[in-house]
Amino acid sequence: MNQTPKTPMSSKLQTIRNLYVADLPQKINNMRLAWHKVIEQKDTNDLRQLRIMIHSLAGSSGSFGLPQIQQQAEQLEALLGHITFNDEQQKSKIEQHLDIMQQSAQAAAKTNLQSQHNQQEHVLFQSQQKRHVLIVEDDPSQGDELSEQLMHYGYEVVLLRDINQLETTLSTQTIDLILCDIMHNNRENAGFEMIHQLQERNIGCKNIPVLFLSARDDLDARLKAIRAGGIGYFPKPVNIGSLIDRIEQLISPNSAQRQPHVLLVDDDTSLSQYHALLLEEAGIQTWILNEPEKLMDTLRVFSPDLVLMDLYFPNCTGVELAGVIRQQNNYLGVPILFLSIEKDISEHLLAYSSGADDFLTKPINPNHFVPLVIEKIKRFRQLRDMMLHDSLTGAFNHTSIKNLMDTEISRSRREARNMVVAMLDIDWFKKVNDTYGHPAGDRVLRDLSHLLHRRLRHTDAVGRYGGEEFMIVLGNTDIHTAMVILDGIREHFAKIIHEESDKQFQVTFSAGLAQLSDFSEGSQLVSAADDALYRAKEAGRNRICLAQMDTLA
Ligand code: GH3
Ligand code: MG
Ligand code: MG
Repeated sequence: MNQTPKTPMSSKLQTIRNLYVADLPQKINNMRLAWHKVIEQKDTNDLRQLRIMIHSLAGSSGSFGLPQIQQQAEQLEALLGHITFNDEQQKSKIEQHLDIMQQSAQAAAKTNLQSQHNQQEHVLFQSQQKRHVLIVEDDPSQGDELSEQLMHYGYEVVLLRDINQLETTLSTQTIDLILCDIMHNNRENAGFEMIHQLQERNIGCKNIPVLFLSARDDLDARLKAIRAGGIGYFPKPVNIGSLIDRIEQLISPNSAQRQPHVLLVDDDTSLSQYHALLLEEAGIQTWILNEPEKLMDTLRVFSPDLVLMDLYFPNCTGVELAGVIRQQNNYLGVPILFLSIEKDISEHLLAYSSGADDFLTKPINPNHFVPLVIEKIKRFRQLRDMMLHDSLTGAFNHTSIKNLMDTEISRSRREARNMVVAMLDIDWFKKVNDTYGHPAGDRVLRDLSHLLHRRLRHTDAVGRYGGEEFMIVLGNTDIHTAMVILDGIREHFAKIIHEESDKQFQVTFSAGLAQLSDFSEGSQLVSAADDALYRAKEAGRNRICLAQMDTLA
């Protein structure tokens, strides 16, 4: 059986894990303090809060791949479940348990530091997870042609000539999408019948999108496709561009949105743990920030879809912190919800004026809290997607790609890593428009954007810089690695056949690359890459040039 390749932990997740592990000894120390308070005051409420903290630690350490700490936390939680306040033996058992956890936490923090160090030694370049498309087509030349085109876009293609093998193929291979011809062995509806039969018997393709390909384009055939469970229908000759559009819509990683992320800023540890638990039960990933001093770092690594904020902190107010969040363009739109026991309406008004989106009065009602948070996140994401992306190509727009470049530059400097900026421009694009029309030109722009997204890592950012010019920001990469990757992409793009009213044509691009280790400022990186692009054009186009350090004054 084909195993889906395991993708390495993303660098963002790794950073969050690093922060988490580094904080663990402190967290366990806090638990010890909370435990001492329980012993002194014999308050069952405090005890309950402590159990919530430990429960949450068990959950989070498990998610961060620390099974030992998870197990210890679970045991401790169980121990605390049967506590009698005056039992000395129990008390010392719990103390011992906390000692052991503290040791494990310190060991994890130490190993983490060492591995962070080792990671910087090598540069990773792993393209995003491959998508497997199964083509079921008995005509050898049509099957080969379609596979070749899809392969250029970066899909892993499985070609099946004999539809009777479909069931076996689905049970032995990882398939993300099926393209099925309707006529097989001269049987008019063989494709519909087979897919329908498999769907009915609940075999393999139940959750895999099926698109039918057909020489017919009549209503009867289209209806049959729907009834057989197909969600797309493409008459032959298949327009590859629109087929790719549909495939990307169905299986691109963007369509599987990342889990919602909520940042809780509250100096009340246990209450924030409680709120986090409520949200996590609803499938929301949470990050608790008890010390507002770490706000900026946390925003950067966690990039929340919503911030839940307490109103008062020892050194500042929540309203001030909201102001700080709103000072940064990247977080202008992120919803901020205040949590407070404050009933004074004038305080609420002040909070709204600093950019708060809503106010929740403690104690909050869980039945209102979670749906409200989910609704706010949904709206935020819709707006953000529209604000950040170019509507024609789906790539980032000019402003957002430049912001992403600046963010990546700061990150790379901080982590002492290299990064590359690529400027890419379609060759003779004016001619494409003049010969095949503006809509055909638009199609080519979209095709190139799909290809770039599919063939680059999902951590690389692709933006439409202007008309037919794209900017790509490749983090944690040097210029030579980037050259190999982009040159491969260039070759594939040149082989893609574009179509417009029965006419076929091919298009190429040129690119220029510059790396951070050679240029210190963002503006220098861009103009060096632009300069290299200009040289690629001069040298005859359909090629990539590297920036020369001496071209900048
Ligand atoms: P070179 O190889 O030197 O880059 O030549 P070129 O023809 O690609 O460059 P030029 O800058 O002369 O022309 C760019 C063309 O891109 C002109 C413009 O109409 C076209 N263009 C810009 N934006 C779009 C768009 O959104 N859609 C379409 N179809 N064309 C666009
Ligand atoms: Mg051009
Ligand atoms: Mg141009």
